[in-house]
Amino acid sequence: GWRSRAAFKLIELDDRFHLIRPGMRVIDLGAAPGGWTQVAVKRGAAYVVGVDLLPVDPVAGATIIEGDFNDPDMPARLIDLLGGPADLVLSDMAPNTTGHAPTDHLRIIGLAELALDFAVKVLAPGGGFVAKVFQGGSEKQMLAPMKQAFATVRHAKPPASRKESSELYVVATGFRPERISQDD
Ligand code: SAM
Repeated sequence: GWRSRAAFKLIELDDRFHLIRPGMRVIDLGAAPGGWTQVAVKRGAAYVVGVDLLPVDPVAGATIIEGDFNDPDMPARLIDLLGGPADLVLSDMAPNTTGHAPTDHLRIIGLAELALDFAVKVLAPGGGFVAKVFQGGSEKQMLAPMKQAFATVRHAKPPASRKESSELYVVATGFRPERISQDD
């Protein structure tokens, strides 16, 4: 079985957007307890590496690293483990919540922006990026740089995501590294 209810969110996103394809190299940021990693393996990704601050029980067919994805050596380390640049970067990361909605919102957007910065360092041309964001306005900040770097950018609320939660996912496909400006 799946280790998390969150697994169903990735299943639904993948059913709709066909993100995971056989042979792919996939990075799962914020992998604990391992549900999304399981789904990526099950759906045929050839190489899957998960990263989390928390320890994660081994997932057959994947490698999981305990650490902060922001560590400066993490992009090179993950590309090395995958045997090449990633075809898909997934982020279901969430910061610890404070209960103060505006603060929580800014924190999760910060995390999603960092995940985007990370993704452009590790993705192969044509690659995809999925990140959890929260509705509330500033997720729009990310939209311009994402539309620059990816051919297609969409937002989706999978049915498995609770209606009361302002969580949603940004789904970007068709990474075009030549469109990233060199000075940032
Ligand atoms: N998708 C997972 C699944 O299906 O099992 C659930 C992920 S959980 C909602 C979010 C995770 O993000 C937490 O385990 C948390 O430790 C991790 N996280 C938050 N900040 C992180 C960081 N800077 N580096 C790595 N992991 C981080």
